[in-house]
Amino acid sequence: MAVGIKIRELCFSYGSQEVLSEINMVVKPGDFIGIVGPNGSGKSTLLKNMAALLRPTRGAIEINSTGIEDYKRLELARLIALVGQDQQPGFNFQVEEVVYTGRYPYKERFRPPAGVDRQAVERAMYLTGCYHLKDRDLFSLSGGERQRVFLARALAQETPVLLLDEPTAFLDMGYQVELLQLLQGLNLREKLTVVAVMHDLNLASRYSRKLVMLNRGKIFARGSPEEVLTRDHILEVYRTEVLLEPHPMGGPPQIIPISPPTGRKGRERGRKIHVIGGGGSATGIINQLFLKGLTPSAGVLSIGDSDWVTARRLGLEMVEESPFSPIGLEQHRKNLGLVADASLVVLAPLFLGPGNLLNIEAALWGLEEGKTVLVLEPSSAGRRDFTGGPGGKLYQRLVEGGALLMEQFDLEKIDALLATGAG
Ligand code: ADP
Ligand code: MG
Repeated sequence: MAVGIKIRELCFSYGSQEVLSEINMVVKPGDFIGIVGPNGSGKSTLLKNMAALLRPTRGAIEINSTGIEDYKRLELARLIALVGQDQQPGFNFQVEEVVYTGRYPYKERFRPPAGVDRQAVERAMYLTGCYHLKDRDLFSLSGGERQRVFLARALAQETPVLLLDEPTAFLDMGYQVELLQLLQGLNLREKLTVVAVMHDLNLASRYSRKLVMLNRGKIFARGSPEEVLTRDHILEVYRTEVLLEPHPMGGPPQIIPISPPTGRKGRERGRKIHVIGGGGSATGIINQLFLKGLTPSAGVLSIGDSDWVTARRLGLEMVEESPFSPIGLEQHRKNLGLVADASLVVLAPLFLGPGNLLNIEAALWGLEEGKTVLVLEPSSAGRRDFTGGPGGKLYQRLVEGGALLMEQFDLEKIDALLATGAG
């Protein structure tokens, strides 16, 4: 049976504390929706409302166009199963007995367990990998094993909709992936509708087709994982800065928190640093500055080279040039603009060819304009010069013009420089 859920203007309060406000959400048959959001944002409360364990303070939940409150309890239990967060066993049943309790919505006629019940129970235990536990006492199981037993009980309920509250919370990595793949398989093959609160954003984005992000009891964002899990959204809602990296095997990007998190105190905006690099020479420098809470600009970088990838990943302001093309005048002009805005210009130890001489010209121009220019690895400049002369001369002028020279990029020293009022 196809079951759709419509949530309209739902508000919910525990006493006087409003925990959910104005939630509008549609669950269509066959959906796989992940609900994400920080601790206390109302995820569990939303799920409990959808399972009719809690009653909305205002607004409505409709199951197939009928108000959820109009369903009899057992009738609803044949449509929607819930695996709660941190579910505690009431009694020390054996595993198989617990899974059998999932069959309660079908016991209206007080019949003894029938073949269909046994089949459902055995299948559920088999799918969730707890068949071998069937004679064990629930209290003797680990948190992860128990979690699988409660999932088995929900699957034995054979409902078209499954609500899960942090189903992978106590599971090790292998079981996390296995469980989500199991749910994905049931979703794809048997059209099981899945709504899962998920605490791990990477798993949420990998397995959900749609995401809903809650923040302080409101829907903050919804859509595809890529639409919802942006750096800006995560920064605002989780107050943590992250990188989004392509997963090497495809699929949605991986979310990597940056440590130490700069999100809470915010990125430094005051001091401006412009890094001139290319070909990977500036990647370490840019990353170190970024981790320090500084947001450098960068230029002129060839589209696709590793410095360009670094700058783009961090969302830096940068000047880019087509691959394998010499720096054009337009790009050079933009680069000078960023140099002009900066208080410190860092020249990375780049390889010099006729195509990127203008990068050195830009640094030299900065120096002449009175900027602090830091030249890195000056001792190897000769070995990095493939211009047949002009590159070396420009380096010479930088040195003579009073650029700061540094063999190894050293943030402490730069801090000292900045503290003494560079630029
Ligand atoms: P989440 O699952 O996103 O962590 P919850 O839905 O569990 O959030 O909780 C949302 C808010 O409601 C929190 O501030 C929490 O403290 C509060 N809350 C949860 N359950 C109760 C309850 N039974 N009584 C009072 N407040 C509660
Ligand atoms: Mg919760």
